[in-house]
Amino acid sequence: MSQWLPIADLAQKVQAGELTAVALVEQALATIAAKQEFKAIIVTLSERARTRAKAIDATIKAGQSAGRLAGVPFIAKDNFLVFGAATTAASNILKGFNAPYQAVAIEKLEAEGAICVAKANLDAFAHGASTENSDFFTTLNPHDKTRVPGGSSGGSAVAVALDMAPFALGTDTGGSTRQPASFVGCVGFKPTYGLISRSGVVAMASSTDVIGALARTTADVALVLDVMAGKDNLDGTTIDADPAGYTALTTDMHGKKVGLIKEYFGQGADPAVEALIKSAAEKLKVTGVEVVEVSLPTLPVALAVYYILCPAEVSSNLSRYDGQRFGFTSASATDLEQSYTQSRGVGFGKEAKRRIMIGTYVLSSGYYDAYYKKAQTVRTKLINEFNEAFTTVDFLLGPVAPTTAFKIGANSNDPLQMYLADVMTVAANLVGVPAISVPAGLVDGLPVGLQLMAPQRADAALLALAAQAEAVLV
Ligand code: GLN
Repeated sequence: MSQWLPIADLAQKVQAGELTAVALVEQALATIAAKQEFKAIIVTLSERARTRAKAIDATIKAGQSAGRLAGVPFIAKDNFLVFGAATTAASNILKGFNAPYQAVAIEKLEAEGAICVAKANLDAFAHGASTENSDFFTTLNPHDKTRVPGGSSGGSAVAVALDMAPFALGTDTGGSTRQPASFVGCVGFKPTYGLISRSGVVAMASSTDVIGALARTTADVALVLDVMAGKDNLDGTTIDADPAGYTALTTDMHGKKVGLIKEYFGQGADPAVEALIKSAAEKLKVTGVEVVEVSLPTLPVALAVYYILCPAEVSSNLSRYDGQRFGFTSASATDLEQSYTQSRGVGFGKEAKRRIMIGTYVLSSGYYDAYYKKAQTVRTKLINEFNEAFTTVDFLLGPVAPTTAFKIGANSNDPLQMYLADVMTVAANLVGVPAISVPAGLVDGLPVGLQLMAPQRADAALLALAAQAEAVLV
């Protein structure tokens, strides 16, 4: 049993004076302190959080509204800029960097009374699927401390699983919110591309980056989305939020069709995971949906496409870390050229360097057509196939990952093996559609997430299906 009530209830009780923001913040900080051994957190923002909690309680005492998330503590992945905290993205090259402005998503949550209590661990710059690429430490899976929590938002997922806060923010460029949610047994939601402003979030691959939300239930995730969604002048890719909002979760599923993705089965995934997802699909019929098989023939090459386009964009986005403007600067350099090379050479970890090299290569003259351009062409083909599929079904269904949480160290010396953890999540990012992981049950005591996807801008319907699925699964 979680020690947190549903987020809407918490906020309502704080507003009614039955709970205080100060007490909720203390509860979050005490849990973080008690669960340190799991290494989910990079830094706690205790003083800032306590100050904000007191202000919220005072607002309420004065008879004013403190907002829809009054007093609700949350944890942000450490690639969100938050005032009063160093933002590292778990990379040595950002050590010592203090946010000169704050992420719009954080602003929106805090404007409704939520309180950021800590920054969570991640794979450095969000490159990875296990948190083992963090330059600082690896986060441990609460279900088995010898296993990874998934990544890259592994710290955020573990924070939710261990009740450190009612919700956490992640990012999802190729699966980083859904895959750790699947590995630790919480809900992880990736919205439609552009639905939440990314201003103030460290960029990874800008054509697929989205902010994700992790919580214990779909209802909690929906409320958090409702607060963060919408157009923002600071992020030109943003779109308008659904005027009907995201919290109703009442879409009638009778007559709706769910497509079981053929290509995600029988291709080397753990048979026990496949069996559990197939039985979850059966159970889903209770909601009124019809389940049919759907084929997306280009899906098997989506991972290859992602691992060309993602490094290409990463190599561009990481060029700003030159040792002069943000964070770490090499002290031993004697001229500017040396300062660039030494700062980047020392500051970036192995995976960031690997992506910079691959990305630069696929964009270079002579190779651009063979790799980058071809990958973009295949991406368009994939988008067309998804659009086509969504003319016959309302949702798509499959596993989140081919396995349960793997052992720490099992894939860390084999980048290709690590990349395979993303084989079922990257397509939603390449196509820009919303996708969610909801707990479907356990295999050998380890959580498995069911992945559901919907067409672009059908986030509200997807959340409704996920909430109804939650009621019949596990
Ligand atoms: N695991 C994927 C990668 O390493 C996805 C990362 C993410 O979504 N941030 O690129």
